Amino acid sequence: MVRQNHRLVNPNEVQVHLVGTGIATMATAVFLIRDAGVPGQNICFYEQMPIQGGSLDGARSPSVDGYVTRGGRMLEDEAYVCLWNLLERIPTLANPELTVRQEIEQFNREVPTYAKARIIDRDHRILDASELGFDTQDVLELTRLIALPERLIGARRIDDFFSEHFFQTNFWIMWCSMFAFQPWHSAIEMKRYLLRFMQEVPRIHTLAGVRRTKLNQYDSIVRPIQEWLQAHGVRIESGVTVTDVDFAETASGRRVSALHLNHQGQNRIVSLAERDYAFITLGSMTSDASYGGDDTVPELIRDKRDGGFRLWETIASKAKDFGRPNTFCGNVDESKWESFTLTMTGRALLQRIIDFSGNELGTGALMTFKDSNWLMSIVVPYAPHFIGQPDDVYTLWGYALFIDREGNYVQKKMSDCTGQEILTELLGQLGFGDDDGEIRKTTRVTTAMMPYITSQFERRVPEDRPLVVPRSAKNFAFLGQYVEIPEDVVFTVEYSVRAAMHAVYELMGIDLPIPKIYHALEHPIVAFKALQTIHSGQADWDAR
Ligand code: FAD
Repeated sequence: MVRQNHRLVNPNEVQVHLVGTGIATMATAVFLIRDAGVPGQNICFYEQMPIQGGSLDGARSPSVDGYVTRGGRMLEDEAYVCLWNLLERIPTLANPELTVRQEIEQFNREVPTYAKARIIDRDHRILDASELGFDTQDVLELTRLIALPERLIGARRIDDFFSEHFFQTNFWIMWCSMFAFQPWHSAIEMKRYLLRFMQEVPRIHTLAGVRRTKLNQYDSIVRPIQEWLQAHGVRIESGVTVTDVDFAETASGRRVSALHLNHQGQNRIVSLAERDYAFITLGSMTSDASYGGDDTVPELIRDKRDGGFRLWETIASKAKDFGRPNTFCGNVDESKWESFTLTMTGRALLQRIIDFSGNELGTGALMTFKDSNWLMSIVVPYAPHFIGQPDDVYTLWGYALFIDREGNYVQKKMSDCTGQEILTELLGQLGFGDDDGEIRKTTRVTTAMMPYITSQFERRVPEDRPLVVPRSAKNFAFLGQYVEIPEDVVFTVEYSVRAAMHAVYELMGIDLPIPKIYHALEHPIVAFKALQTIHSGQADWDAR
């Protein structure tokens, strides 16, 4: 995909401006320094939040005495090649001899994922998730979607391609809860996921192919990169929102000539010289996220208060090939959901979950309550999950896909519930409604409402997403989850890192290979096992 039409530049002469401090721009800065030789002092980030890392968060809760992550990332060996490329040169905070990539490999050898309780039914029974539940029609429909070219799928929904039975199968319950797919999401995205994660199908019931970071991704990924970048002298301006970008049309193409910044109500313009560059994150799945606590309900923000989508809307009106943000941020009711983090002091709840699931801490991946009205799932991470987390304090992360429905144990929509009410629903789903008060006393709940969390899965046509480096672009690139990278899958860290690599290598004229996208279907044994699993409807218990 790299079009080598950009001149080789003298890296010492350029100034580079990065919008946002998510993994997309952090990776961009690493590649600029590591592969293009740009001095760190020549790189400046502008971030609207007081903290770096974007969606990759992990911190003390803003609402209770505990911790919060809005999400927990499942990574994967075959699919995350650009992320591994990034992390294999970043040392861990604890040991400069150990890279973040090595730490992840080591951690997953020591604490391998092997879920024994992937699907739970309304009677609190653990179902045999290796039975995928397909009938002949489901197999035909899956095969058809895999085979159809994207141009023929167009902007159609997943449920345009499947009959009702498919959405009742164990496969769909596991697939949709693993990746947060809804029936109304883009069928193209579903197809890409089927191809990109085909190798996971035979082990989908145990999630044995999932790779985790040792701690939450802020502590395990963001902080080490941040330290590496700061050691190289990059500058980070926090609390600064980029409100507009000026483009200059020249005979040879389009250039960014200035960024408009706002810091605490004060406006400022940063001009870019001919030789300077801008890398701009468009939108964010965690834009306008808000938090609730034990006794409070998080606000669902619909009026775009932060700069994420606003900047893209402003830019998009300037050129046809800058995408259509409204496709993604224009329907909050389709893109929102809510997650929650429990902080448990002692093992009152934790031990019951371990006894129930048969999974020790950190080995269970995702447990989904298939009959819950909210379609709730939980994960119990290894402890500690945060730097500085005391012994005998544990965390649990969960989320639900249908937050506008009443619960089974709480007669309220999830979006109207306090953290403690969500805990009541969870205890009900687990069959632990007999709590004598100990669980309640020792469990604090933080909730996170995310209006745009699945916005990148919205139905789209090719023009809705700009290219990483638009064809006319001379000195700028777009990054993040809303750009187009052929074949690759959004809602992944990998996507943001791959975009960063394309952007830097193309704009800076770097002749280094970008790791190839893994295609399970190119590998006969992997392909055979995956297709056999789909056709037999039986996942392979030995596939680890
Ligand atoms: P972001 O992290 O969204 O960063 C964008 C940054 O830019 C933000 O800091 C924002 O404040 C800033 N910004 C935006 N606009 C402006 C502006 N105008 N001015 C200044 N600053 C601005 N990925 C996986 O691979 N596996 C998973 O299992 C997985 N699960 C997830 C679960 C949840 C709940 C969440 C939230 C995400 C999950 N992801 C997962 C996705 C992954 O975390 C994201 O794809 C990735 O972190 C996005 O990084 P980014 O840098 O592209 O964007």
